[in-house]
Amino acid sequence: MGAPLIQRSRVRVFGVPAPRRLAVGVLAATALAASCLGSCAAATSGVPTPAPTVETAATGPAPAAPTSAEPGSIRPAAPAPAAGKIVVLDPGHNGGNAGSPNTINRQVPDGRGGTKPCNTTGTSTDAGYAEHAFTWDVAQRVKASLEQQSIRVVMTRSSDVGVGPCVDERGAAGARAGAAAVVSIHADGSAAGNRGFHVAYSSPPLNDAQRGPALDLSRDLRDALRDGNFAISDYIGKDGLSPRPDLAGLSLSTVPTALVECANMRNAQEAALVSSPAGRARYAAAITEGITRFLTR
Ligand SMILES: [Zn+2]
Repeated sequence: MGAPLIQRSRVRVFGVPAPRRLAVGVLAATALAASCLGSCAAATSGVPTPAPTVETAATGPAPAAPTSAEPGSIRPAAPAPAAGKIVVLDPGHNGGNAGSPNTINRQVPDGRGGTKPCNTTGTSTDAGYAEHAFTWDVAQRVKASLEQQSIRVVMTRSSDVGVGPCVDERGAAGARAGAAAVVSIHADGSAAGNRGFHVAYSSPPLNDAQRGPALDLSRDLRDALRDGNFAISDYIGKDGLSPRPDLAGLSLSTVPTALVECANMRNAQEAALVSSPAGRARYAAAITEGITRFLTR
């Protein structure tokens, strides 16, 4: 239930091909100068920057050299296209939920005129690997990958040992953070024979963000997971997408929001996948890709 963590974006130096760096160097330097507010030097000082890379961006054949950079500063290379945007990651449930039934059973607004419990314990694999641990781990990996692209990440919970936050707080987190997108990360607990991921979105929509952008975000996440060779759900939704009126976090959101059910933790094959660090890294890579696609639409 701690305050959301807001981490400042880091300057990305590597990973942008040289031609693009040359083309957008002027704009990037201007944007960074405007947004860094004096913290860029600290942000870049720990990055092992080869001098030629920086010099290329700083002295390339731009028609007009920017003059707004700090005097004497080394201008970093262009940020990724989505740099500076804010993403809220919402790892489902929390490690302390099971031990706090009174707290998580408290009724909160569901976004459609009713109420529902603050939160639930989530599911687990048959071997006992908990959904809250899975969602926390994957979210941390996604956070790190997004921050490498200078995307700012706000988490709805700051650890995997607390209680809550309630679903209505999670639903409000995107607007509070000024987020371009909110992605809730979960895993399902269905019959053992069922398998595959699906992405849920609010339906019927209750506002403009839910009407179009949330579906775009859901499709981008679905496509990225499919491209990452994850099986599309064979038991819920259609083509990996699931319209839902009953998920408060989705119904309450006024920014583009989607909820990824990564796997069925009760399916033996998918239990092995979510229980392995390599599997979680694959989920994180696909979710990161989906978010990036949406942010660069
Ligand atoms: Zn869940």
